[in-house]
Amino acid sequence: MDLLVLLGAPGSGKGSVAVRLAALNPNIKIVVTGDLLREAVARGTPLGLLSAGYMRRGALVPDDMVAQLIGAQLAEGKSGCRYVLDGFPRTIMQAGLLEKIASAEKATLKAVIKLEVPEAVLLERLAGRRVCTECARVYHLKTLRPKVENRCDVCNGELVTREDDKLETVKKRLKVYVQQTLNLVDYYESKGLLRRIDGSGLIDDVVARVVQVIE
Ligand code: AMP
Repeated sequence: MDLLVLLGAPGSGKGSVAVRLAALNPNIKIVVTGDLLREAVARGTPLGLLSAGYMRRGALVPDDMVAQLIGAQLAEGKSGCRYVLDGFPRTIMQAGLLEKIASAEKATLKAVIKLEVPEAVLLERLAGRRVCTECARVYHLKTLRPKVENRCDVCNGELVTREDDKLETVKKRLKVYVQQTLNLVDYYESKGLLRRIDGSGLIDDVVARVVQVIE
């Protein structure tokens, strides 16, 4: 089992890239940490109840809780598949926990893709982002409009602004990214795993750049 990590600030396009990579290749599976946590919150599981407050504030959920969630997902993984991790790891501690999970599952971390996007673009993307309440598909008021206003093209679910996409929380999330996640860049660079990708512009162009690198 191969692993690929998508690293990048909130709004850098990790989720959109992950979904499109999976659509291009049936052997690519995605593990979207934020979606798994939001699902746990919506279902009111013990993990969800513990995570909700951190997420609402734009803070990170404790490392061991998130690592358990990812470990459980990868334990169900299929050999021969490539798993794209969107949003994990987000701290140096989580990177260490991922190494333990990988060795338990006989998985190999092949590359860490860092999506690089200027902050002004991140803020614009997050302000216009709308998410389907049913299937979590992501839209944008300017650049990726749904066919019918406020309705998901795929499942007709209602589109809403994520609670943590409100401006104050976005600013907090960007700060958390700089303080707690950005040092993973040096960490993975020193291991020779880091690949920097220009994440600005059209999503199809960004995906093409990622595909070129991972192939
Ligand atoms: P995302 O959808 O990736 O922007 O994640 C939404 C929120 O989920 C984050 O602001 C955190 O509160 C939480 N979260 C997602 N991934 C992680 C992680 N690896 N570690 C801790 N918290 C996380």
